[in-house]
Amino acid sequence: MPDRENEAGPLADAVVFFGATGDLAHKQIFPALYGLTKRGMLDVPVVGVARSGWDLERFRLYARDAVEQSEPAPDQGALDRLLGRLRYVDGDYGDTSTFLALKDALTGVHHPVHYLAIPPSLFGLVVTSLGAAGLADGSRVIIEKPFGRDLASARHLNASVRAVFPEESIFRIDHFLGKEAVENLLYVRFANSFLEPIWNRNQIANVQITMAEDFGLQGREKFYEGVGCLRDVVENHLFQVVSLLAMEPPSSLSSTALRHETARVMRSLVPLQPSDLVRGQFAGYRDLPGVAGDSDVETYCALRLTIDSWRWAGVPWYLRAGKRLPLTATEIVVQFKGPPTRLFQSENVGGDTNYLRLRIAPHPAIALAARVKTHGQGFAGEQRELLLQDTQSDEQTAYERLIGDAMAGRSMLFTSEETVEAAWAAVDATLRNHERVEPYEPGSWGPVSANDLLDPPSGWHNPVLAAGAGAGHAA
Ligand code: NDP
Repeated sequence: MPDRENEAGPLADAVVFFGATGDLAHKQIFPALYGLTKRGMLDVPVVGVARSGWDLERFRLYARDAVEQSEPAPDQGALDRLLGRLRYVDGDYGDTSTFLALKDALTGVHHPVHYLAIPPSLFGLVVTSLGAAGLADGSRVIIEKPFGRDLASARHLNASVRAVFPEESIFRIDHFLGKEAVENLLYVRFANSFLEPIWNRNQIANVQITMAEDFGLQGREKFYEGVGCLRDVVENHLFQVVSLLAMEPPSSLSSTALRHETARVMRSLVPLQPSDLVRGQFAGYRDLPGVAGDSDVETYCALRLTIDSWRWAGVPWYLRAGKRLPLTATEIVVQFKGPPTRLFQSENVGGDTNYLRLRIAPHPAIALAARVKTHGQGFAGEQRELLLQDTQSDEQTAYERLIGDAMAGRSMLFTSEETVEAAWAAVDATLRNHERVEPYEPGSWGPVSANDLLDPPSGWHNPVLAAGAGAGHAA
């Protein structure tokens, strides 16, 4: 069976990096390119393209600063090697001359990877210009998120990109898929034989996924006003997590087999109705610069998802994400059904049944909660967690992994045309038709009405951050 390591296309012989003077470049991409260089996985030219009027020296300073901010004492040898590989092309993406200059800079290069870390409104223009300049042949394209803002725009963008690149050369980024802990979901599910018999509607009562952030917009208010929580992290990141948890075993670990199974899950999502969704907005959001005084943009959303499949019929999937919540953590709780009869009267049946907890961040962990008898006479018990925690200091970042995979032609961790469109189709109606946002206090777990989405008596499992601590029930 092929795995991720040995399934590869021709190695890229250059990385072309549109948006090289931008924020994502500084925060994520240069640190990732440095990490790849340090590991000996990047030894090709890196060509930045932007319109800042910079020269190569100014561009190198930006790259150095980005690396030093992410790693205060970098390996100087690796940093110098990366800086030595940088090239810079200055020009507007609307000018044909920019692409001609890029073509010159790529003389002798046959398989470049073009990374579009640029405003989404320019994705189509740059792809078309790459095609017109003859720079698409033999190359790959990495497209940042968001891929569209609804079903129609995603279809339109897919059509524009597919007119220039074949599907196997298109790498749509969802950086969640590059996280070690997310990849581990796939491994945990299919490397453990004990899970499969219970991983279905017969044993699982519901699945909850929480992505909580204790911070606000951090200067991205204007961007967020056009997006909101559902588009920003739920329809993409959390849906990818759903697909890994819900998919059928793939026939192999080839990109084709995996993408086929994730797309099947997405196609099985029952389109959301307004009653499946609670949208919240933290108090004070409307006072932020760049935010409309009457903004209806959600900074929180909770939803009830249904997967119409043999395995998952009748199992609700509860997803929620939000800003200015009590803590920052992403966690999955798979809640099992209770025992068929209540032999021990003291059991808190229904509200405290066994669960599997998968912490994605911070401190990835897996915990299985089981009830055990407390000492003494009588059959009183409590739920305790068996905890597996694995910390690794020199882990690859998501961006390192994704750029490295795209350079090697491995598309397993990237989303396909079909998956992207099916995910948008599941939320499309509620993007336009929904209740107005409900206010919530910063530092709370969001609007109280999110509890109404759940089937009583179980509540939301709130992540707890203390090392080794389990999930707590919502108040
Ligand atoms: P920025 O606005 O910070 O950077 C945009 C980049 O594109 C700059 O290098 C800019 O060059 C260049 N650019 C824009 N228009 C043109 C043009 N007409 N011609 C030439 N160059 C142009 O955006 P971000 O870095 O924040 O975002 C980039 C992408 O990454 C977006 O798709 C975003 O959704 C995605 N993303 C961003 C995240 C983040 O934290 N920033 C997180 C996840 C995804 P110049 O500066 O010279 O104008």
